[in-house]
Amino acid sequence: MSNNVYDIVIIGGGPAALSAAVYTGRAELKTVIFEKKVTGGQILTSTLVDNYPGFPDGISGAELTELMEKHAKKFGAEIKYEEVLGLKVEGDTKIVTTDSGMYNSPIIILASGADPRKLGVPGEDEFVGRGVSYCGTCDGPFYKDKDVVVVGGGDSAITEGLFITKFAKAVHIVHRRAELTAAKIFQDEARSNPRVRFVWNSVIEEISGRDMVEGVTIKNLLNNERKDLPCQGVFIFVGNIPNTGFLGNLLCVDQGCHIETDENMETAIKGIYAVGDIRKNSYRQLVTAAGEGAIAAMAAERELTKLHAQK
Ligand code: NAP
Repeated sequence: MSNNVYDIVIIGGGPAALSAAVYTGRAELKTVIFEKKVTGGQILTSTLVDNYPGFPDGISGAELTELMEKHAKKFGAEIKYEEVLGLKVEGDTKIVTTDSGMYNSPIIILASGADPRKLGVPGEDEFVGRGVSYCGTCDGPFYKDKDVVVVGGGDSAITEGLFITKFAKAVHIVHRRAELTAAKIFQDEARSNPRVRFVWNSVIEEISGRDMVEGVTIKNLLNNERKDLPCQGVFIFVGNIPNTGFLGNLLCVDQGCHIETDENMETAIKGIYAVGDIRKNSYRQLVTAAGEGAIAAMAAERELTKLHAQK
C-alpha cells in the first residue's frame, strides 16, 4: 500500500475521532487522523470532566485527551497535524487534500466537530473555564447554590438550563426576544420551575469579575436600559457552527449545516461517516461522541470487508 493510501481516513482529532481510531486500529486497518491544531477538541477547555465513565473522581480534558491519543496510537493509528482543505469522491475512492498533500481511502470518518457560537462580548473569552461555559451537562454540577445566567431561547438553552436548576439556586434565562423557540414541552417545564427566571428582550453586554465571573451587564433591547446581575456562572447556548468548510458542496448545501446520518453514522454518501458534534441531532457529549466513533468504525470495517470481497 502506498504511503498516501489508507483503509480509513479520520478528519478531526477529538474524542469521536480518537475512539473511532482505537476501533479501526485494533481491527488492523491502516488508519490516519488529520488534525489541524491539537487533538482533544472542545474537551481541552474542560478543567474537570466528571461524567465520563471510569473516572469517578473526574479527569481534566487535557489528561483524558492524552490517554485517548495514546490508546489510538497503541493500535497503530497515525496522527498527522495537517489541515484538510478538500474532499472529493471518485467511485469507491475518496481523495482528501490537506495543506501538505493528497491521500486516498475508501472510507472517511468526518469528526471535525463544531464550535459553539460565541456572543462576542467583553469578558467572554477571558472567563472561559472560570465561570463561562458552553456545556451545562458538563459544568452545571459545579454551580451548587449559585446564581447562573443562561443565554439563548432554543432547545439547548432550555434543556441545559433545566439541568442546571438541579444545582443552582437560580437560573436566569436571558433571551433577546419575548418568546422561546424551544419545544413546547421544555418551555412548559421551564415556566413551571421555581428556580427559573426569564429576562426577556435582553442581551448580555459584558461579563465581569476578578479571577472568576462575578456578574453580567444586561441591556434591555426595548428601552436600552442596563442593569447588573450578580452571578457566578454564564452558560451560553446561542447555536453552534459545525466545521464543514472543507466539504464544499459535498453533503452540505450551506456553510454551517450539521450532517445527517443513519443509525450506523453513515452519511448519504457510501463510505463516508459523520460522528460527534458535526452530526445532526448529536447529543454533544463526550461519551456519545466516543460511542458514535465506535459505531462508525465498526460499520466501516464491515463496509471494507464487502468492498474487498467485490475485488
Ligand atoms: P438554536 O435552536 O439555533 O437556538 C439558538 C438560540 O440562541 C435562539 O434562541 C437564538 O435567538 C439565540 N441566539 C442566536 N444568536 C444569538 C446572539 N448573538 N445573542 C443572543 N442570542 C442569540 O440552537 P440550539 O438551541 O443549540 O439547538 C440546535 C439544534 O439542536 C436544534 O435543532 C435543537 O432542536 C437541537 N437540540 C435538541 C435538544 C433536545 O433535547 N431535543 C436539545 C438541544 C438541542 P433567536 O430565536 O432570536 O434567533
